[in-house]
Amino acid sequence: KGKLYICPTPIGNLEDITLRVLRILKEVDTIAAEDTRHTINLLRHFDIQKPLTSYHEHNEKNKSQYLLNKLLEGETIALVSDAGMPGISDPGEVLVKACIEHDIPLEILPGATAGILALVASGLPTRRFAFEGFLERDKKKRRERLEKIKLEDRSLIFYEAPHRVIDTLQDMMDIFGDRKAVLARELTKRYEEFIRGSLKEVYQYLQENPPKGEMVLLCEGISLEEEVRREREVFEHLTIKEHIL
Ligand code: SAM
Repeated sequence: KGKLYICPTPIGNLEDITLRVLRILKEVDTIAAEDTRHTINLLRHFDIQKPLTSYHEHNEKNKSQYLLNKLLEGETIALVSDAGMPGISDPGEVLVKACIEHDIPLEILPGATAGILALVASGLPTRRFAFEGFLERDKKKRRERLEKIKLEDRSLIFYEAPHRVIDTLQDMMDIFGDRKAVLARELTKRYEEFIRGSLKEVYQYLQENPPKGEMVLLCEGISLEEEVRREREVFEHLTIKEHIL
């Protein structure tokens, strides 16, 4: 039986690749990459030559079967995505599940993932957090998701795109009210930036400084006071209803 190695790659700074990831990339039979052109550049930088095969969102199911057969034949495969940890808002989940079902050994290697870096440096509570990844593109669905998590008391981590972040902040202000929020931009890159404040302050900042680059948006979970206030509202609403009845 072969083996699958899940290999994180840098999210902006090539120095962040680990020695172990480099060794595995050199040793495996094949590298399964989200975008082979992107990964070729990375490999070229580290002087690694290896057969590459694509494994992306649109062929994840079929390609998992193909890679699974290779693994069953005894090949070793490294799975990489364009940046950060495979399987985190990136393809990986289907192949990992297939390996587990077929008893194929797998090894997870540590490395950068944008959400965790952003959270730890945000100054928001790190004791408990919830990773939301990308919100739905459709406004109605996005608002439904935010409604569903508005009572969540853990810190919330979202992946965002520059052309959507202002709309998202607007929706969050409507649904969550104002809360502490942080926008982490271009992590590990030259223009890394943290905008710390409230949802409203981050929103105002982006009105004056149009959003650019890769970004993680974080906000605090619901506060105890807000929770009590909302519960009181529901209670008062119920008592009024009872009174009417
Ligand atoms: N697998 C990656 C990880 O482990 O973080 C995430 C891949 S996802 C397709 C890409 C999103 O991650 C971006 O839109 C952005 O929200 C976030 N991201 C990736 N690199 C980043 C960086 N250097 N700074 C801030 N956010 C980043």
